[in-house]
Order: sequence, then C-alpha cells, then structure tokens
Amino acid sequence: MATTKVLSVVSEIYPLIKTGGLADVAGALPGALAAEDVEMRTLVPGYPAVMAALAEAEKVEKVFRLKDLFGGPAVVLAGRAKGLDLFVLDAPHLFDRPGNPYHDGDGEDWPDNPFRFAALARVGAEIGFGAIKGFRPDVVHTHDWQAGLTPAYLEYDGRPRPGTVATVHNLAFQGQYPKDMLADLRLPPHAWGVDGVEYYDTIGFLKSALRMSDRVTTVSPTYAAEIRSGEGGMGLSGLLAGRAGVVSGILNGIDTDVWDPAKDPLIAGHYDASTPSSRRTNKSALQKRFGIKVDRRAMVFGVVSRLSWQKGLDMVLEGIETILSVGGQLVLLGSGDRELVDGFRHAAAAHPGRVGVMIGYDESLAHQVQAGSDALLVPSRFEPCGLTQLCALRYGAIPIVTRVGGLADTIIDANEMALEAGVGTGVMFTPPHADMFRAAILRAADLYRDGATWRRLMKNAMRTDVSWRRSAARYAKLYRDLVTERNA
Ligand code: ADP
Repeated sequence: MATTKVLSVVSEIYPLIKTGGLADVAGALPGALAAEDVEMRTLVPGYPAVMAALAEAEKVEKVFRLKDLFGGPAVVLAGRAKGLDLFVLDAPHLFDRPGNPYHDGDGEDWPDNPFRFAALARVGAEIGFGAIKGFRPDVVHTHDWQAGLTPAYLEYDGRPRPGTVATVHNLAFQGQYPKDMLADLRLPPHAWGVDGVEYYDTIGFLKSALRMSDRVTTVSPTYAAEIRSGEGGMGLSGLLAGRAGVVSGILNGIDTDVWDPAKDPLIAGHYDASTPSSRRTNKSALQKRFGIKVDRRAMVFGVVSRLSWQKGLDMVLEGIETILSVGGQLVLLGSGDRELVDGFRHAAAAHPGRVGVMIGYDESLAHQVQAGSDALLVPSRFEPCGLTQLCALRYGAIPIVTRVGGLADTIIDANEMALEAGVGTGVMFTPPHADMFRAAILRAADLYRDGATWRRLMKNAMRTDVSWRRSAARYAKLYRDLVTERNA
C-alpha cells in the first residue's frame, strides 16, 4: 500500500507555539502517524516564534508566493524545525506581531482574526490542490475554527480536491464573523447557505468545516456523543446529529518521551511503575517550590490548568476547606480568568503553608506538579479529551475528575467493583457540582489513607497506555478509508 500523504492545517504546534492541548496534538500526530505509513506535513502561521525556530533549520525553501493575501504579500516556506516537517505561511502583515496567536497583550482578539485565519485556510487549500511540488496530499486535515474555512475554499474552487477531515478540539470556540465579510473573505455568493458557511446569520468558520468536511472527528468517543445532543452541541448539535455517520471520536495521546518520569530532566527524582515510592523526592521538592509545609504524610492535591469556567476550578475554591479537613494541601499552577486568579491568590494568603499558588504558564513547573502531587484535580464541566489527566496517569498522580467527555473515557473510577478487580486508576464524580466535588475529595482521602490500595491505584495509573499508538492507527484507518471511498 502506498504511503498516505496528509496535510495538517493548524494554528499552533508544540514545541514552537502553544496555548493549549491543540498544540500538543498537532505536534505529536506527525511522529505517531509515521509508524502507520502516513506522511503528515503541517501548515502553520509564521508567528515570530515559528519564524525564529525556522531560522535554525538546516534548509529552508520558498515553495510558493502570493502577491496579495488579504492585504499583503505572502511566501510559503518549507523546512524542518524542532523535529517537525513544516510549511510556514510567512505573511508579516498578518502574523508578525507580539502577543498570543489569537489576541494582543491585553487579551483583546486581534481585530483582523477572520482574515488571518482565512489566509491560513486559503493557503491550506492551495497546498491541497497541489501547489507544492512533491507533496500533493491525499487528505487535508484541519483543526478547530482557525483552519475551518479550508474545506470551503477547496469545495468552491471547482478543481478536483483531496479528501477532507475536520477535528474539533473544543466546540466552545467557533469563529463567527459578520456576513458582510463574505466577499472580502473571497467566498462566492452561493457559499451563503445552510450547506455552506452560513451560521445563525453569521459566517461560521467551524460550522462550515463541520458541514463541508468528508469526515468530522473529535478527541474522545464520549465528547463525540455529547456534541450530537442538546447543550453539549453548543448550537451545532443538529448539524452533527445529521452527519452522525461521518462523526467519530478518537482519543488523544501524549508524547511519552516528553512525559516520562523515568528520565524527565525537569523533575527532582526519577521513578517508574515499579518504584513509585521514589516519587517522595518530587513531593518534597514540590512542597518547597510552592512554599507549603514539607510533610510526607499530607496528601497533596495538584492543579495544572487554564483558569476558566470550563475547567470547573470554582469547585476547587469551594472545596478548599474539605481538602484542608482531611489534612491535605493544594498546589495550583494556572492562568486565566481574573476572578479565579484572585480567588486562588486569596486562598493562598488565607492558608499559608497549606495552599500554594503560582499564576502563569510554566512548562517545567507543570511536570513538577505532576511528579510531586498525590492527586491531580480535573473537575471540568465539559472536556473534549483533556491531556493533564493523561500526564497524571503516567506520573502516578491519581486523577480526580468529572464524568464528562474524554475524562470519562480515560479514567477508571476506583469504585468497589473496580477495586475488587484491581483496575481502578482514579476518582470520578458527577454531576459537576461543588458538593459532589467535596464528596470525591473525601473518597480519595479514604483511598489514600489505605496505603496498599493507593499504591495499587498508582501502579494501575502508571501502567495505563496513554501513548498515541492506538489512536494513530485509528487516524490512519480513517484517512485510508476516505481515500478508498473517494477513489471509488
Ligand atoms: P486545554 O487545551 O483545554 O487547555 P488540555 O488538558 O487538553 O486542556 O491541555 C492543556 C495542556 O496545557 C497540557 O499539556 C497542560 O500540561 C498544559 N498547561 C495548562 N496550563 C498550564 C500552565 N499554567 N503551565 C504549564 N502548562 C499548562
């Protein structure tokens, strides 16, 4: 069988530029798929961080130029940077600016975001049509709303097109813009309609990808079911239910080389499933780092998260007294909503020595929280897949999670039957309310007090396969089936 060629179109990629799990997935997929005989290349915007990484590449080629891409010239560069085979859209008028990929230093969305990401999609479509010699993709795989117009540009152009797959990493971000932008976005008048880009009288970037792609995937089977019904669909459940036959859920994995407690250079002491007691070094290092009491017996509850309503961290604020009542400690690493930031800062000030809070984004600290906490809190109200609980499994920090989306698919609740069968890996609660969260904390503390049971949970967790292996095979099959179907 011939190698399947796939172009991935995405707005962030680890380790070059990352605001969340999307970047992790985009960065890990090409390597995971190589083992499945899929050649994946990734198109990303030329933000300053991406251009800087490319400057270190051995060889950079200019593969094609566009005289005018939404208000300025653009060049597509090809090169290998930090282990990734990239096509970079170098369009300084759109991407050469400070701040984050989506907003300025004050958190305000860049006003030209529709054009910035339409540009990404248009170039994705051009590569899809074969603009790059030696790389004509069989499939174009787009991620989230930022790449969402790619299938529309492919479809309305009229030339023969490759197969299309759209993956939803989070349905909460949909990319909706005023309808009078239609012509400026270089979309034809007939794109305006329910089978095209129209979405509640606006132009819907994500909506059009979900409507027009040959296949739609999301990042866990449970989230795939949730978004097809009612609230979980966030306005798109009808469309997704109507396309149920082409919608599926494929779990994310994590990069088990980057996340490996046996050789992680970012943590204080190395360990694996056969030596979990060596985590102690990491626990005391973490307690020191967060300025809380170094105490081997205190149960450390950790958080590594965006601070937002989705992540349910208001429940953690409401549950702090319960954590303290079982002799526990809390360490939190996160950034986001002002109110939550203030809430956690206040909690740290009110409980010195027992609650430690670091506001910000810090990759190495994230590893240290995973390696040193006894339990990791992920009380999301909805969670497409979630990566932090996968890292927690790998590092033996027992995840305490809500029964939603990917959390429900990746954690085995340590209930009586699971304990009896010796298969539990975490503590799960539902519905996502503060009182159920508090009950979960009490249940986890009971399990922790019974040392043998807790050690068993740690071993089970650390032996769970959280790699990309299975899911890479599923994506490869999805691409191949699609190619076969389109050739028929
Ligand atoms: P989401 O993409 O919704 O934010 P995920 O769990 O899918 O949530 O992915 C979050 C990723 O970002 C994980 O790799 C996690 O370790 C990382 N992360 C989140 N917050 C921080 C932080 N404050 N510092 C370092 N890493 C973080």
